[in-house]
Amino acid sequence: MPETTSEFTSPNLSVLIPADKIRERIREMGQQIASDYAGRRPELICVLKGAMIFLSDLARAIDLNLTFDYIAVSSYGKEKSSSGEVKIVKDLDEPLQGRDIILVEDILDTGLTLSYLVNSFKARGATSIKIATLLNKPERRKVEVHADYIGFDIPDEFVVGYGLDYAERYRNLPYIGVVKG
Ligand code: 5GP
Repeated sequence: MPETTSEFTSPNLSVLIPADKIRERIREMGQQIASDYAGRRPELICVLKGAMIFLSDLARAIDLNLTFDYIAVSSYGKEKSSSGEVKIVKDLDEPLQGRDIILVEDILDTGLTLSYLVNSFKARGATSIKIATLLNKPERRKVEVHADYIGFDIPDEFVVGYGLDYAERYRNLPYIGVVKG
């Protein structure tokens, strides 16, 4: 038997949201954002690493003059205290004063990360802050966070792909999957 090397069709994975559904939904989100921000120049802030693929597809669906910045916070489950304190591992390059911010996240889970970032960005003088998240797990919320643009509500399952990892693996899957077993 030849050894199989396919990552995308691994038998350990089941597809939750296929690539064409993601593409279509991001196209709609981009059009909505372009219409909401018409005449303005928003800054998209990507929460690394998970949101990188979503950001690059979403940005190309927004027909506006916009800019980017990147922030990295401590990874899931590690060093995240129950108080909601999140450690910034890589901070923004540019000041936020006077900017319209769209915070781009892969998944809204407990809400601790995004509520921390929204409060921090408000304190830095952003004019407005909205959230665009590809996925939302409403059942898991611990703190109230309002997401303005949501790709898909999903059940309480650990998902991978399209930027999301399991121990740094699977980020390059073109779909959202669930690891079996
Ligand atoms: P929150 O602060 O909302 O609990 O968590 C947000 C972060 O937790 C996400 O950016 C992501 O890194 C991680 N996370 C939450 N749920 C999942 C999941 O189902 N799969 C993966 N890979 N990461 C998740």
